[in-house]
Amino acid sequence: MYLHGTSRVNEKGHLEIAGCDAVELAQKYGTPLYVYDEQLIRSKIRSFIDAFKRNDIPFQVAYASKALSTVAMCQIASEEGLCLDVVSGGELYTALKAGFPSSRIHFHGNNKTVDEITMALDAQIGCFVVDNLYELHLLNQLATEKGKEVSILLRLSPGVEAHTHEYIQTGQQDSKFGFDIISGQAIDAVGKTMELEYLKLLGFHCHIGSQIFETEGFTLASKRFLQIVEEVKNKYEFEIKVINLGGGFGIRYVDGDNPLPLESYVDAIVQTVKMECIGKNLKIPEIWVEPGRSIVGDAGTTLYTIGSSKNIPGIRKYVAVDGGMSDNVRPALYQARYDAFIANRVNDEPNELVSIAGKCCESGDMLIYDIELPEPKTGEILAVSCTGAYGYSMASNYNRIVRPGVVFVKDGKSAVVVKRETYDQIVQNDNEINYEEFTCPLSG
Ligand SMILES: *Cc1c(COP(=O)(O)O)cnc(C)c1O
Repeated sequence: MYLHGTSRVNEKGHLEIAGCDAVELAQKYGTPLYVYDEQLIRSKIRSFIDAFKRNDIPFQVAYASKALSTVAMCQIASEEGLCLDVVSGGELYTALKAGFPSSRIHFHGNNKTVDEITMALDAQIGCFVVDNLYELHLLNQLATEKGKEVSILLRLSPGVEAHTHEYIQTGQQDSKFGFDIISGQAIDAVGKTMELEYLKLLGFHCHIGSQIFETEGFTLASKRFLQIVEEVKNKYEFEIKVINLGGGFGIRYVDGDNPLPLESYVDAIVQTVKMECIGKNLKIPEIWVEPGRSIVGDAGTTLYTIGSSKNIPGIRKYVAVDGGMSDNVRPALYQARYDAFIANRVNDEPNELVSIAGKCCESGDMLIYDIELPEPKTGEILAVSCTGAYGYSMASNYNRIVRPGVVFVKDGKSAVVVKRETYDQIVQNDNEINYEEFTCPLSG
C-alpha cells in the first residue's frame, strides 16, 4: 500500500487525508466522493516552478485544466501564479468565473468554434495555440474584425512517439493534432502566419503524450523544435521566442509505475534547450510546460461504499461499489490501473483476491481487476487512490447517476468545492414533448 501526500493511517486504523478521517468524510458527504489533498496540489505546482527558477531561465508553467476544471482549482492555480490551459468554452468560462487572470490563459484544441474563439478574444486571453490552417485563417479573420492583435503558438506534431498507451499518445506523425514537422506543413504554417496581419507568432507547441516516465521524448521533441527554430530563423529572419513542450509527466498509480521526480523532466528539457541553442547560436527561448495529471492526479482519492459481491468459484470474485465508469471512466477507456484499500481498516492484511466492479450497465465497467484486499464487506469504505486527474473531469451521468461531490481537505478542515448533483439536476433540462410550428430563424 502506498499513501500519497499528507495521507496516513490514524489511531482507528482509518485512512486520513490532511487530518480528515476518510470514513467520516464518507459519512458526512456521502459516497462516491472525490477528496483532494490541497497541500499536495500546491506542492506539485511549486516543484515545477522551483525547478525552473533553479535553472534560471524564463518560463511559464500552465496547468492543463482539463485534468480537473473547477472554480476552486482555477483559484489555486491563480494563487500559485500559474498560467492556465483551456480547451473549450466551458473550461474558459470556469476559469473566468474563478477570476483567473485572462492574460495568463492559453486556448488549445483542434477544432475551436467561432463562438469559442469569439469568447476568448473578448476575454483578451494570453494566447491561442493554433492547431491547423483552418483555425489560423479563422482566428485571423475574427481578430481582424475586432481589430485586435492576437498572440499565438503553432501546435506542431514533432513525430515523437512517447512510450504510453496509444490513445493518449499525441506527438506521433499520424495524429489529429497539430502541423506535421516531417512533411513540411509546420514550416509552411510559419510562412502563412507571417502573412496574417493580426496574428503575432510567439513560438511552437507540442504535447507528445501522457503518463510519460522518461525524459527522452521531451528532449527529442526539444531538439526537433530547435531545428525548426533555426530553419525559421534562416528562412524568415525571425526568431521564435517560446517553445512549449506540453504536459504528460507521469505519476504513480500502482506498484511498478516509477515516475521521475518532476524536477528531472524540467532539468532535462532546460539542459537540452540550452545546449542546442548554444550549438546553433540561437537566443534561448522561454520554455513553457503544461502539466495536468502530475499536479492533481495523486492528490485525489475517490471514496466508495461497498455493496454487493459475487463469487464465481475458480474464476473471480466481484465486489461492487456505488460508483464506477460514471465517476472514473479511465479503466474502461484505456485500461488504466488503480490501487485501492479498505479505508476503515487500512492495516488489515490482504487475504483475498477480488475485482472491483462499478454499478453501471456495462460489463466493461470495472474499476480494478485482481487486487489483494482484506476480505471486503458490505458497507465498508473503499478508497481508490490517485483519481485526481481525469476522474471528475470525465465524469458523466450515464445511467442517470448523479456526479459525486468534490471536497478539498487541508489541516483537518474540509471544503465542498463541487456539490454532489441532485436528481432534480438530472432532469432539469428535460422537457415534455410540446411541438411547435418549425421555423428556422436564419431562413427566408
Ligand atoms: C492533456 C494535455 C496536457 C496535460 O497532460 P497531462 O498528461 O495531464 O499532464 C497538456 N497539454 C495539452 C495540449 C494537452 O492536451
